[in-house]
Amino acid sequence: MTAKSVQINRVILLLPLLIISSLFADTTKYQWVIPGHFTITSSFGEFRHLHFHGGIDVRAAEGVPILAPADGWVSRVSVSPWFYGKALYFSFDDSLTAVFGHLSRFAEPISRKVLIKQYKYRKYCIDLLFKPDELAFKKGDTIGFTGGTGAGKPHLHFELRKNGTTVVNPKVLGYDIYDKISPIIKDVALIPLSGDCWIEEQLLPIVISSSDSIGTIEHPVRFWGKIGVEASFYDLATPESRNRLGAHELELFLDDSLIFRCVYDSFQLRLTRAVGFLYDLEMSEKAGWRFHRFFTTSSLPIYQLDGMGSESGVVDALRMVEGKVYCLRVAVADFNGHSSHREIFIVPAKPEKVFANLEPVDSNSCVIKLDISPNNVTLFATRSPDSDFVA
Ligand SMILES: [Zn+2]
Repeated sequence: MTAKSVQINRVILLLPLLIISSLFADTTKYQWVIPGHFTITSSFGEFRHLHFHGGIDVRAAEGVPILAPADGWVSRVSVSPWFYGKALYFSFDDSLTAVFGHLSRFAEPISRKVLIKQYKYRKYCIDLLFKPDELAFKKGDTIGFTGGTGAGKPHLHFELRKNGTTVVNPKVLGYDIYDKISPIIKDVALIPLSGDCWIEEQLLPIVISSSDSIGTIEHPVRFWGKIGVEASFYDLATPESRNRLGAHELELFLDDSLIFRCVYDSFQLRLTRAVGFLYDLEMSEKAGWRFHRFFTTSSLPIYQLDGMGSESGVVDALRMVEGKVYCLRVAVADFNGHSSHREIFIVPAKPEKVFANLEPVDSNSCVIKLDISPNNVTLFATRSPDSDFVA
């Protein structure tokens, strides 16, 4: 097999994402949603316990005015002690709705309508829908005030929904969100994906930090079978920032070939809880740090839902040249285009000896010799009177 004949599945993953930035060509027509300078404390699509973060969190004290991003109307208001607390849904531009969460209070005349309904139904928790002519506002009008309802610490959760089915990064409206720091890639992990897989003569994942000598061009990681790549990373908006943000664009290259790409621009609301497909929760628990997958397999059905390839980013030794050193390049970019990368060198190397041998001991038991150089493993298996086979 020549290097030219190496075929890696190059299906590019665009999930949870639709690239819709082009829908918002006019980047000047939208009003930013609070007055003055701002920073964000959480980014779009960030990992949350059992879901993706559907918006951005804007740092704000209690009582800061929330401004209508365009001419539009309040289409929904909900009040709850949990989740988004006091939440306001502001519809504009036909298909877009901004969701503002954790408000301390609504502006007039919204708050009056809410109070009337609360008295009428004699309960605090309500969920009200409004028609376009009921609560119309102009661009820049104050529609509510920031707070911490449902969240604790005051901040503004700002989410953008399209057609009621998809959440979109509010940055596509053209807002300039300050971030001057490139993401930091902490560790890269190589994960066995097939039964015949070996990574450095083990059937286990290996985690490679930037200071390790393994994975360098001098000491490439030896592997066989199919492997996947995962990485832990975070982004900061400023050097002083203590809020670790998520990333916008994740890419994996095998030498010069892009074999996996994931862009956090939008995702369907029905997939918001599918965070376990893109993050390896088991690995994250063991390592104490979140690992994001840079591959898909047929057992991760989120990708099949969108008609994507079932094996994107999978590195298969059988499709590579044995003994040749390859470069895996993990690239992570933030929402302002600053990027970082790590290179891990790998070499497909067939294990010297792997075979299993069944030797009958008597009519009810046998010895399975699994000879794996340099380690030898012997398994004893006994036939049970109640079942066909017990090992
Ligand atoms: Zn939030």
